[in-house]
Amino acid sequence: MANKINKEISCMDDFDQNSITTDEALKKIFNAISSIEENEIIPIRNALNRILGENIKSKINVPSARNSAMDGYAINKNDIPVDKTNTLKIIGKSLAGKPYINSIKKGECVRIMTGAVMPNGADTVVIQEHASISESNTEIIIDNNTQPKANVRQAGEDISVGDIVLTKGKNLTPADIGLLASLGLSKISVIRKLKVAFFSTGDELRSINEKLNDGEIYDSNRYTLHAMLSRLNAVIVDMGVVKDNKNLLVKAFDKANGKVDVLITSGGVSVGEADYIKDILQEHGNLNFWKVAIKPGRPLTFGNLDKTLFFGLPGNPVSVMVTFYQFVQPALKKLSGDNANLPLMMKVPCMSTLKKKPGRIEFQRGIIEKDNNNNIIVKKTGAQGSGILRSMSDANCFIVLPLNSNDTKPGDLVDVQIFHGII
Ligand code: AMP
Ligand code: MG
Repeated sequence: MANKINKEISCMDDFDQNSITTDEALKKIFNAISSIEENEIIPIRNALNRILGENIKSKINVPSARNSAMDGYAINKNDIPVDKTNTLKIIGKSLAGKPYINSIKKGECVRIMTGAVMPNGADTVVIQEHASISESNTEIIIDNNTQPKANVRQAGEDISVGDIVLTKGKNLTPADIGLLASLGLSKISVIRKLKVAFFSTGDELRSINEKLNDGEIYDSNRYTLHAMLSRLNAVIVDMGVVKDNKNLLVKAFDKANGKVDVLITSGGVSVGEADYIKDILQEHGNLNFWKVAIKPGRPLTFGNLDKTLFFGLPGNPVSVMVTFYQFVQPALKKLSGDNANLPLMMKVPCMSTLKKKPGRIEFQRGIIEKDNNNNIIVKKTGAQGSGILRSMSDANCFIVLPLNSNDTKPGDLVDVQIFHGII
């Protein structure tokens, strides 16, 4: 179609010998960061997604006593019949929280419920399906189907006294919070939250409650950044929009320096006339690297001010998200002591044709799903331009195309990073 806008041709160049690879960039970032070692004590209910600041050793056995894993009858294994059946006298009941306090002897059994403490003398639970009760309700007849010691949970089977249950650096999940509660812990030590400031740069940017004049756009990057940092539990300082003016930008850098752990900017890192960020970093701090062989996001800039790490993200909204997830998030995780690994990649057949030139690793936006035959496949979201935020919003994964690869044909295997897990 002659008048259809081609949204993909705006950035055709790919090879740049001054760019470093993503692996080199990550290495430089990790080398420049050591984890903060400041802890705070918080109630476990507030600890979701916080980073554990200590190893957790159990002071108790879980479960604390031998108990039944099923509803049935507690017996001694010597009463399991070799063949045919055996009749046992019911001498009492053990309920969860209300144990039977006497012992059982040969020929006796105790009615027992799941979670109830096993009486002394009993070591096996016969499930109700293998026990028929006499009319008088005083005896059971069991068959020979039960294994000795079956259906009994041993004391400390889950966790024993002295076991290290969770290690320092664990990003706490709902399961971890429950586990801490099962150990009887009400408060734990976590690493303090990171303090992260950001601002957007650009004379064309307006905040969302302002009127747009010709050529102006709404600043979306501050909102995306705010949302991405919220997921990481950071203390967020939004410094607003700063014009493409060197003095104003220097002032903003000075304001953040030393007050926050990390400063993030968006825009102004390219080679345009109004792109001052890299120069300011060189003059007022340290430039570690500028430009990574990645698409989108090549002009990514990393370094530090006196005591504050600095990330200069490109201005395009998709570049912001890709560089945040590939570089800033791993950096913030390391800084906050989070011992999580980098995201898993999996190989999946891709059903779309993907245009690509060698020279940059590319993070296209994809939708991973099951096809009609229940096979997992991926396809790209619509147009992939770095300004098209819709491509991220529609996606549930990144399709990661290696540095020197070319186009991908339908059916080719591609690497995929999935956005969400279930926990
Ligand atoms: P820059 O890196 O400053 O050259 O910006 C690259 C592109 O991203 C330009 O089209 C900008 O208008 C756009 N852009 C920069 N900052 C933002 C922002 N905060 N929100 C939305 N778009 C932006
Ligand atoms: Mg700009």
